[in-house]
Amino acid sequence: PETDLLLNAKDLCKSFGGIRAVDRAAIQVARGSITGLIGPNGAGKTTLFNLLSSFIYPDAGEICFDGMPIQTLSPYRIAQAGLVRTFQVARVLSRLSVLENMLLGAQNQTGENIVRALFRSGQVRVEERHNRERAMSILESVGLAAKAHDYAGALSGGQRKLLELARALMPQPRLILLDEPAAGVNPTLIGQICEHIVEWNREGISFLVIEHNMDVIMSLCDRIWVLAEGRNLANGSPAEIQRNPKVLTAYLGE
Ligand code: ATP
Repeated sequence: PETDLLLNAKDLCKSFGGIRAVDRAAIQVARGSITGLIGPNGAGKTTLFNLLSSFIYPDAGEICFDGMPIQTLSPYRIAQAGLVRTFQVARVLSRLSVLENMLLGAQNQTGENIVRALFRSGQVRVEERHNRERAMSILESVGLAAKAHDYAGALSGGQRKLLELARALMPQPRLILLDEPAAGVNPTLIGQICEHIVEWNREGISFLVIEHNMDVIMSLCDRIWVLAEGRNLANGSPAEIQRNPKVLTAYLGE
């Protein structure tokens, strides 16, 4: 039933000049699930994430989050409603501390919005004790507490991805869109990141994950949606997707 869907988007279209990056695509995330979004390079996955999080607006289509249409809301309002995202290349602010990055997350700011907010306010509001405690407890759980006062720029690429993931938890989201959480991350840290995702999922957070690492996708996800050339190619359980001939052809044809 519709009410089991935390995210339900359909007929989404987005063109850039002559390129139809997303072409009447649909995506659904069941409440409590870890859903995967896969497809060959250029399939439109990141564009779909940009649409779902209002970083760009669709030419057509509908996006419902928890039954509410959100396609005209700003990224800030969407984050407030409980939907946050991460980026393919982690967007942490290098010249702020790890803790300050976390506190920006608490203000429901994501990506470019963080930078805009910084310029507007002239400084980061670091005084809220409650947020500070919450931030430290999340940093503790991901093993970054000892680095709380280091510059985020001093972290390794993998640790930045971990920080971005940790920051996404700050506004207490119900759905997190993860754009390639394993890309450029060493195997040990990939394992840890996956464990955190599973643990937070058990605590009630749903995930939609773009990932090229098939081991990660197949082991994490309950359901997988496949995009190719901006269109829905298939969706199903990991086992169904792995043996779907259309999916195999789309990847081999790359
Ligand atoms: P990858 O797996 O390589 O990250 P993807 O599935 O995320 O790819 P998108 O990045 O969404 O794919 O790109 C889909 C198509 O839209 C590509 O042809 C890309 O070149 C094009 N595209 C995306 N963003 C823009 C933009 N801002 N301007 C012009 N073309 C764009």
